[in-house]
This record gives sequence, C-alpha cells and structure tokens, in this order.
Amino acid sequence: MFPECPDQETYLHKLEHLKTVFPVPVSNPVLDGYFVHTVSRFLDLVDDLKSSAPLLGKIRPEHYESAPAAGFPEAMSSVAEVTRNLADYCQGMTVWAHPNAQVNVIPPTSIPSILAFVVAAMYNPNLIWDEYSARFAEAEIQSVAMLADLIGYDPRRAGGVFTFSGTGTILYGCKLALEKLSGGRTMREGIREDVKIVSSAASHYSRLNVAGWLGLGTDNLVTIPTTRDNEMSLSDLEEYLRQALGRQEKVAAIIATMGTTDAFGVDDLTGIVRLRDRLSQEFGLTYRPHVHADAVIGWVWAVFRDYDFAANPLGFHDRTLSSLQHTLGRLGDLSLADSIGFDFHKTGYTPYISSAFLAKEREDLALLSRHPLQMPYLYQFGYYHPGIYTLECSRSGAGALAAYANMRLLGKEGYRILIGHMVEMAEMLRERLEQHACIQVLNDGNFGPVTLFRVYPPGVDAAAAFQREISDHTYENALSAHNAYNRRIFTLIHERAMRGEGVLLSWTDAYRHAAYDGKTGPPIPALKSFILSPWTDLAAVDLVARQVLEAREQLASGPASG
Ligand SMILES: *Cc1c(COP(=O)(O)O)cnc(C)c1O
Repeated sequence: MFPECPDQETYLHKLEHLKTVFPVPVSNPVLDGYFVHTVSRFLDLVDDLKSSAPLLGKIRPEHYESAPAAGFPEAMSSVAEVTRNLADYCQGMTVWAHPNAQVNVIPPTSIPSILAFVVAAMYNPNLIWDEYSARFAEAEIQSVAMLADLIGYDPRRAGGVFTFSGTGTILYGCKLALEKLSGGRTMREGIREDVKIVSSAASHYSRLNVAGWLGLGTDNLVTIPTTRDNEMSLSDLEEYLRQALGRQEKVAAIIATMGTTDAFGVDDLTGIVRLRDRLSQEFGLTYRPHVHADAVIGWVWAVFRDYDFAANPLGFHDRTLSSLQHTLGRLGDLSLADSIGFDFHKTGYTPYISSAFLAKEREDLALLSRHPLQMPYLYQFGYYHPGIYTLECSRSGAGALAAYANMRLLGKEGYRILIGHMVEMAEMLRERLEQHACIQVLNDGNFGPVTLFRVYPPGVDAAAAFQREISDHTYENALSAHNAYNRRIFTLIHERAMRGEGVLLSWTDAYRHAAYDGKTGPPIPALKSFILSPWTDLAAVDLVARQVLEAREQLASGPASG
C-alpha cells in the first residue's frame, strides 16, 4: 500500500512534486489551470522580448563561448525557473512574421499549425503506426490525399509519408529510384555498381548528402549546367543522357528542381519527363530513370492552377499576374513526376519539420519495406503501418497534423492570397530596385518571392558590369572588388536592421557561377530579399531600396573600410 502522504525521507515525496511538472492525465481544474498559467506566463516573457527590430531581444555571441562549459546539472530546478530560462533562449531569434524580416525561405507559422505542434507535443503521437498515433495517422493519410489532389496524382494510386525534411524527401525519391532500377535488390545487396543521379547546378546541396549517405557516392552525381534563368538546360541534359546511355551507364534518377533555393529557378519538368521517355525507348532501356520533383519550395504555386486569371477575383496587379502565370507555366504538369517533395515548413507556413514525400504509385513504396517478422514488437493490430517502409522508426505526428491544419485553414484561396502577396511585394521591390542604374536585379527571369541583386559603386553601370562579371574572365578583378563592395553594403544594412531601423536581408555566396567560355568561373555572391511574411507591405519594400542607396552613400562618404 502506498501511504497517502509519503514519508519525507523516501523518493516518493519528491515524486509527488515531480508529478506537477507534467500536464495532468485526468482533468483537474487546479492543475490544468497551472499548466495554462505556465504557458501564458512563458508567452508573456517571450513577448517582452519584442521590439521594433525584426528579432527578439538581442543577439549575444558570448553565449557560444560559455556553451562548452555546460555540465550535466546535478539538482532539480523548478518549472518557473526553467520557463524563465527558456524565454531567455529566445533572445536573438529573428521574428519571421516581422514586415522587415526578408531573410530566407523561413515562414511565420499560423496559429492552427502551432496548435498542431502543441497537441502533438502534449500527447506525443508516433506515426510509426496508428496504434500509437490514432487520428494523427489519419491526418497523414488525408494530407497526402489532399496533396495528390492538388498536383494531379490519382489519389487512389498515390501514396506518401511525412518525413524528416526536404532532404528526406529527396532521399526517399532517390532510394526509390535505386530500388526500382535494381528490382528491389539494392536493399539487400547494397549498391553493386555505379549508378548516376542527375540534377542541375542550381539544385539544392542536399543531393550531396543523399548521394553520400545512400552509399552511392557524390562522384556519381551528375551536374547539368543551368540557363540564365537558373533552370536545368534541357539540351545539356539530353547531351549527357545520350552519352551516358550510349556508354551503358545507368541513370537511376533525375531530380527536377521546382523552385531553386536562391533564385527560384524552375526546371522544365514536362520537358525532362518527355526526354526521359523518348531516350528510354530509343536506347531500349529495361528501366526508366526515376524523375523526382524537388518541389519543396514550388509546390504551393499549384494552388493557382484553377485561379481565374482573366477575371482575377483577388485583384492582383498585372505584373503579379504575369509572374504567377509564368511560374505556373514553368511548373507544368507536376503529376508527370514519379515522386515529389513538399515542405510545409517553407512555403506552407507551418513550423519545422513538416515535409511530405509523395510517390505517384503507392505500390512502389513496397520496395522499401521490411518483413513484419523483422519487427516483432510492432504491428500486431491496427489499419495503418507506415513504419514497415519508412526510414524512420519513431516519426512525430506534428508535421502531418500541422500540414493538415494549414490546408484546412487556408485552402487554395488562402494560399493564393499569401503567395500572391509575396510575389506582389517581390515585384514591387524589383520595380523599385530597377529604377537605379547602380543596382542590378539578378534573377529577373524568375518570378517568386525572392529577389537577388547586386549593388555597384559610383561610376559603374550595373547592367554592363554584371554582364562582364558573369562572362568575361578579364573582368575577374573587378568582380572581386564588387563582391567586397556588396559585402560591405550588406553589413551596413544588417547593422541597421539590428537597430530596428531597417530591413533584415540575407546574403548568398554563390547565386550562380560565372561561365568563362563554357568553363565554370568564380561564384557570384548577391544580396537576397526573401519575402514570406503577410505583414510585409509597401513601406517595407520601399525601405529596402532606400537603405541600399543610403548604405551606398555611407560608403562613398565614410572612410574606406575593409
Ligand atoms: C530547402 C531545400 C531543400 C532541403 O530541404 P530541408 O527541409 O531544408 O532539408 C531541398 N531542395 C530545395 C530546392 C530547397 O530549397
């Protein structure tokens, strides 16, 4: 028998106290109230860190210096203490929703998607099977079905899972490609020959992780040059495929990037699939190279597929309309891809991690499965056993429910408004930047929420200079000097944003590489504005242009600095 009031001397006394650090399992108004109060007090503490600047509190680099000295704590501490402590860890966080945060493809998160994460954190569903995740598992199935519907897969044949990130979706795509190529043998025997994965020079670096970690080797990645518009050059792809297939090389997968990370270049998926089909036939291949669409950024543009562009009920400006239509045209028919990756934690406005991988043929996923006898502790009952073929064992239910929440909340219309606004603001920004002969917008053929630009010192014509930078090796010294100049502009802008007086931008070291007579030249860095906040307005856009010019004047008048 347990005593009602445990002896002060045993651990049971302290356990009684420790129970109060958990939400109560059976409703109890006092303890439930304590939980709500703790959350609300925590949110107040974090809220106190807000200012006019697009970040919480201050960045304190000295914290990194003390971090290695942290030892494992001996004693317990209290909920109140740790609450204060955690709030302090929010110091320096960028507020992605702030109108002046235009940093990268990192979204503010909607309230329902946050609730999905809260409830998943509280009840801890594990999507390994429905026995441990109940209707969270159903949310995964429904989210996959909704995405299939959005991009035009047959929902009765398509299948998919939420996984650990956009990188995970590419890993799934390439793994599936390897198993299809080998008839499922790779899983047992490993990779026994060189097989290739093909993607563009502007594709995401996660291809390196995937090739390395799959054991394929990064040497087996084939990089196809991009056009001026940052999309895979189809003629170069054809030339490579003809040579490779002629040499009897095996091409497991072609990754089409539907929205590159820096410039929002969109590969011609339809062209790639047609080429794959044509050459597979011509070379009499016994397999077809798998086409994976890396649409982690671009998928959401599919909501415009059935927008009435003629009537334009949402009233977008002409320039926005043609941008949206252009992107839609580039996306083409996403359902032609054999598999697709979607990141809700990018353009879907959920917290990290919420990434979905979809295969056009659900049956292909069986190539990834293990035999139930190899997992004796699982799957004795229930209806949904994704853990049989997922890479992960434990899989959070948060991402799938958050994606479900946002699709329900926003629908196509809500996403059209959000994405339309981002594109509209990016277009306005370009309009402002283009007015100045000292600024060159670099990705002027890519029409997304991201704008890359370079700034030039007095006396230099931006358009002419940039043209030489990307093609003329005798101009390499000027390129370096201009790079340093842009870096200084970026630093001034950054400092100003940190003071709460400007827009926080970001920087890319290599928006693309110069091409000197067909050979890869040095990388070309750029300033980057990525707009994802619904709060970003014309004032924020005007400020970007103004602060660039002011930083330029500051450099012209101030002492030369390194
Ligand atoms: C971000 C990104 C990835 C990687 O996704 P993570 O979720 O960060 O792992 C892959 N491809 C593209 C085009 C991306 O922009």
